Amino acid sequence: MKLKFYAIATLILCSGMATSAQQSNLNGKEVSKNEDVVFRQIDDHTWVGNGHVMYNESLYLVEGTQKAVLIDAGTNIKDLDKIVAAITKKPVMLVATHVHPDHTGSSIDYFPEIYINPADSILIPQMMPDYKGKVKYLKDGEEIDLGGRKLEVVFTPAHTPGSTTFIDKDAGYGFSGDSFGSGNLLLGMNFSTLIATCEKMSSVMQKYGIKFLYPGHYFGDNAETEQRVDDMITLSRDVLSGKVKGSENPNGMMGLNLVISDYGVRINYSEKAIK
Ligand SMILES: [Zn+2]
Repeated sequence: MKLKFYAIATLILCSGMATSAQQSNLNGKEVSKNEDVVFRQIDDHTWVGNGHVMYNESLYLVEGTQKAVLIDAGTNIKDLDKIVAAITKKPVMLVATHVHPDHTGSSIDYFPEIYINPADSILIPQMMPDYKGKVKYLKDGEEIDLGGRKLEVVFTPAHTPGSTTFIDKDAGYGFSGDSFGSGNLLLGMNFSTLIATCEKMSSVMQKYGIKFLYPGHYFGDNAETEQRVDDMITLSRDVLSGKVKGSENPNGMMGLNLVISDYGVRINYSEKAIK
């Protein structure tokens, strides 16, 4: 039943991400591999795990001297806690970029608590109904101190109300879930929200010299750049002004029946998003 729920929910919610034909160009040393996930090293203290249920759904393990953060938990990765503990000896804090079942799937059950953006609480009954652990809340602008390394929490609503990006200023990169970079934005909110979020992220990237964002569906070559975030603002403004019109996409995910594609950005949305 649970599996069926995840299968359906994932199909409905996130199969808009990237395209099924997208080639995986992942590299980096493999540090852990089983039937559910492959973890690869990004740098000395950072790893990316890729599942294969839903377009390379990606989770990131970010380690400091005192603790580690696991950003997202994938769809259904057996013994994820043990896999992670074999990579880092530090205590692990689980945070979510947003509450969708390919990011907070049943693998969250291995963790006693999960930190989310409170704005995604409304999705909990539908998206993570069986979680027995404690749901805790992140604050916009707070810093998670890992010891010698900090992650800044930046709320980036648009895909979901509580979508969140985590920024490592020292490393010069961030982790954006489905907010940016996953190849095919499913706009769950409206374009004004998306523009505000992109403006916020563009200025964060400029201010701290953030070179790219690792997305929630990472294929090895689709880390998001500031240019693309800015392109999304241009495209969104063009839609709002009526300069460009989306094409009908009757079978769009999440009831998003319109799609627009330009500058290498693809946004799925509904009429409601332009009101
Ligand atoms: Zn999602």
